[in-house]
Amino acid sequence: MNEQTYEIRIYGIVQGVGFRPFIYNIAKSLHLKGHVYNTTEGVVIHANFSSSSSLDDFINRIKKKKPEAALIEEIQFDKAHYSPFTDFEIIKSKESEEKFQLISPDIATCKACIKDIGDPLQRRFDYAFTNCTNCGPRFTIINEMPYDRPKTTMSSFTMCPNCLHEYNDSNDRRFHAQPNACPACGPSLKLFNNKNEPIDTDDPLAECAKILKEGKIVAIKSLGGFQIAASAIEDHTVRMLRQKKKRPFKPFALMIKDMNCVKRFFHIDPIQEKCLLSSRAPILLLEKKLKGPLSKLVSGYNDHEGVMLPYTPLHHILFKYIDFPLVMTSANISEEPIISKNIDAFRKLQKVCDYFLTHNRKISSKYDDSLVRIFDGKEMLLRRARGYAPYPLKLKMRHQKKIVFGAGSNEKNTFCFLRQPYAIISQHIGDLENYESIDFYRETIHRYKKIFNIQDVDCIVYDLHPDYYSTKFAKEMPCELKLPLSHHKAHILSVIAENNIKDDLIGFSWDGTGMGEDGKIWGSEVFLVNRDLEFKRVAHLSEYSLPGGAASIERPYRMAISLLYDQYIRNNSSNKDSFPAFIYDRFPFFKEIISEQEIDLVSKQIKNGFNTPITTSMGRLFDGLSSLLDLTHIASYEGEAAVHLQMYASIDCIQKYKIKTFPLNNQILIDVNDLMSKIINDLHKGTDKRIISAKFHNTLSEMICDLSKIFRDHHHIENVALSGGVFQNTLILERSFSLLRQNGFNVYSNFKVPVNDGCVSLGQAFYGSRMLKKCMEGK
Ligand code: ZN
Ligand code: ZN
Ligand code: FE
Repeated sequence: MNEQTYEIRIYGIVQGVGFRPFIYNIAKSLHLKGHVYNTTEGVVIHANFSSSSSLDDFINRIKKKKPEAALIEEIQFDKAHYSPFTDFEIIKSKESEEKFQLISPDIATCKACIKDIGDPLQRRFDYAFTNCTNCGPRFTIINEMPYDRPKTTMSSFTMCPNCLHEYNDSNDRRFHAQPNACPACGPSLKLFNNKNEPIDTDDPLAECAKILKEGKIVAIKSLGGFQIAASAIEDHTVRMLRQKKKRPFKPFALMIKDMNCVKRFFHIDPIQEKCLLSSRAPILLLEKKLKGPLSKLVSGYNDHEGVMLPYTPLHHILFKYIDFPLVMTSANISEEPIISKNIDAFRKLQKVCDYFLTHNRKISSKYDDSLVRIFDGKEMLLRRARGYAPYPLKLKMRHQKKIVFGAGSNEKNTFCFLRQPYAIISQHIGDLENYESIDFYRETIHRYKKIFNIQDVDCIVYDLHPDYYSTKFAKEMPCELKLPLSHHKAHILSVIAENNIKDDLIGFSWDGTGMGEDGKIWGSEVFLVNRDLEFKRVAHLSEYSLPGGAASIERPYRMAISLLYDQYIRNNSSNKDSFPAFIYDRFPFFKEIISEQEIDLVSKQIKNGFNTPITTSMGRLFDGLSSLLDLTHIASYEGEAAVHLQMYASIDCIQKYKIKTFPLNNQILIDVNDLMSKIINDLHKGTDKRIISAKFHNTLSEMICDLSKIFRDHHHIENVALSGGVFQNTLILERSFSLLRQNGFNVYSNFKVPVNDGCVSLGQAFYGSRMLKKCMEGK
């Protein structure tokens, strides 16, 4: 029997999660000789095996017993030159010249640490900053790489002898746990009132719980920023929070004590349960149970609610004293990024919060809670931040040293650095429409360049829209190859990248608004895309007006008026009625919503085209219909009108409208006017609005399937990609998936990045990477 040395390479989240001690312990238990070390890209093991079965056994144990927070993407092994090892050791990390290292996201508190903080005999009993190699802050405390304590925001705390001993002991769960801390040496909590006066208490968390029970609103400093906490069962508390935060309808996320409590309030299946309990611990969208003590004001007419479990020791300890759900929402002012500094919290939230629970560990980067839904048996990210970013997406591309930057969209911005095969997508940045968000964007780009050791960028891809901050920023970055790319193509490209689609496909890019290549505002685009990423725009809605541009996004009733204007021109050719009379006569409720003067103004805008872009937006059609059905006339948050429309749809209805299409410039146009006249006809017949909403939804899903069939017949394409904010609508998403599958299509969408504009940067960077390759090959 010949002993053979093997090199085993493990890729994934395998650093900062206790992986090397884990390998060490397995190797020791199997009496293996060799060593393990970190490299820039993962963990490498050299060890001697006497048979292939002992190698298999070792690898199986690694896969089966891996540390909770570790994520193994791939294990490769090869025979290596024989080394006569005499023991098994953890040896020093080896850096490759690029120093490109994957960084772990923050990890929810592990079971062992939950036990520690619950045990009165442990020195970390009730200690809010307990962590170990399997859990705790990572990305949010890193100032610089490599990930060592002096380069984190823990550098200002000196470990006590007990903590240091754990840190140096390879058998300890806290071996090399960089944020290791205890009450004697680590960060501590303080409670303040909203006059910034400290509250005299030995136990800020117990006091905080008491205050919350009294119905007060508390700002709590969490992992990636402040959260606003309040009782979710008291109407008056939630109402007060809504008033103070000037957030009338947008649903609040909930934090709930444990899984048993979650089950009391929500329907939950095993996949959802696993997702909530995972070390990423995202906010998960769950269906509400009809009866329950939860305040209706938390999420209003939504049948789903965003739910998370406690994910830091601080939250766990707080819920020792509280058994009811808490509203736990990111602390920010309107659309600004989450607040992460104590001083900003006091300054900006003084009028919103009654108390402030803060601590003295700095947050290096703002980091929102991630938002997830389970669809098609998988996690579908809707906001990607805590627990996910900045861990990259590993694309199926060959390794290449060139670096591409995707600047991202304007709304729900993320940016992306792509160095094949890794796409490093930033955490959710937000809407680049205020100073704070823009600052966060710039600062985070700078930070990513530093921690991922990115100096020069070889290619930059940015949105066609000249006024987007991301576009302006990209244009100013030094780089030889800069490529503009339309928003809607970027959406489809992100699906191709994420799903590694190699064949031609039909792409449905349906959302609110984005700049099209003809200077108009696109939003219902259907493309054929070939392997060389060449796009052909083959279908979309017929064009209509967006009177007042951005003004009509906030005011869906303007979209209704715009859609009605075309009906007016059609049905009232002799102009017997004035336009306002036409509207008030048929839709009396509009008298309360829009004045005669404004109707006149809107119609003039449409006629003259003044500040009135032409659009093919699908999102705005939802808005207009929502207003026409007297649901949402003014949107207090982005997408509100469409959400309301979806929630209103009668699920059992399978009827649909017959779509009229017409050809124009080799494209299929879907006749919006015809669809509207059918809907209005239904309304006048007294059809239940729930049926109308359902018919509208069904029509769109059927349209996706029907168009796909037409293009398959002509071009033999079997793959369909769905991307854009419209596909956040579960009715459309579910029905489109099932119809397309029933008809034999392969259906793809965004799961690992948001299907909304959060995916745009990935699509951009992927495009740049492919174009760069073409350039280099001299094509
Ligand atoms: Zn732990
Ligand atoms: Zn200590
Ligand atoms: Fe979009």
